[in-house]
Amino acid sequence: MLFWTKLEAWYNDFGRTLPWRGIDDAYRIWVSEIILQQTRIEQGRDYYHRFVEAFPTVAALAAASEAQVLRQWQGLGYYSRARNMHAAAKYVMEELGGHFPDSYEGLLLLRGLGSYTAAAIASFAYRLPYPVIDGNVYRFISRLYGLSTPIGTPAAYREFEQLLLRLIDRQRPDRFNAALMDFGSLQCRPQPTCEECPFAAECVARREGRVALLPVKAPKAKPQERWLYYIDLRWRHEDETFGLMRRRSGQGIWRGLYEFTLLEYEKPLGDAALRRELRKCLDERYGCGGAAYEVGDEWQHQLTHRTLHVRFVKVELAAKPLRQPEEMQVLSLAEMKKVPVPRLIDRYLQQL
Ligand code: SF4
Repeated sequence: MLFWTKLEAWYNDFGRTLPWRGIDDAYRIWVSEIILQQTRIEQGRDYYHRFVEAFPTVAALAAASEAQVLRQWQGLGYYSRARNMHAAAKYVMEELGGHFPDSYEGLLLLRGLGSYTAAAIASFAYRLPYPVIDGNVYRFISRLYGLSTPIGTPAAYREFEQLLLRLIDRQRPDRFNAALMDFGSLQCRPQPTCEECPFAAECVARREGRVALLPVKAPKAKPQERWLYYIDLRWRHEDETFGLMRRRSGQGIWRGLYEFTLLEYEKPLGDAALRRELRKCLDERYGCGGAAYEVGDEWQHQLTHRTLHVRFVKVELAAKPLRQPEEMQVLSLAEMKKVPVPRLIDRYLQQL
């Protein structure tokens, strides 16, 4: 089978035109790859354009504040990726004299950058022959060759990498990788139309009736459930609405993002227990235990390893509360809409 000949012919007809394709700016390719780990191409385009407009170079990204970076990232989730990019940009400026690494090994030294992204940057920006292996590539190659090693494991990565290293076009690894990714996402889809596929004659999964069974996925851990109550305390002063938020510290995924006062539980609370907890919190933290409040509907929010059941509790006060914990900051409603927040709080604020 002339793998690359067939794949290239398909790519010439159906390959995507993307703003980060056909460029050799390693920084922009890096930005696009990290964004695409979070979202689909259509939505990723907008984020990409906004991000590189705000931070056109690695120097600009390094010079930005963490809050500015997180704000551009808002809505994509997995904020640790944005924080890692920010740290990596600073490393490039401070330790490498502003020179973006131009080898696969050098790229792997950047924080948060794994073998997939290193291969993408190395091949797209520098034409180095490292195959990219993402979910789409795993799907296509596992079916074509009938490979049933559970994907996402180190053993599968090594096996697929060895195979692709034998197939890759060493003159144009950039085109090879782009074609591989596009073929996996556009042609060898989860439910593919195999009759139209240029590899239909040699595809092992098709011949053996295993298309729906491949790739084999490693079993996932069941997500933990959490019940969150965000207390949105607010009051008006001179025609403006104010409230209280804190910037999250610690090591969690929302570190550096702003949020309302949070009550978090491992089990759902009944009405009486919720009333008691809210009264206690309002009294002890803000000295307004008797204030009227309104509990909103439950929203479900899915994180990789957690299912969150979230309710916002609106508390309208006549004036600023008597007490205020040190970490809480007074922000106007307009300011709340500008600081970086988790996606579910952004959704809530947009509704106000
Ligand atoms: S024949 Fe079907 S399963 Fe096999 S590579 Fe083509 S699209 Fe994928």
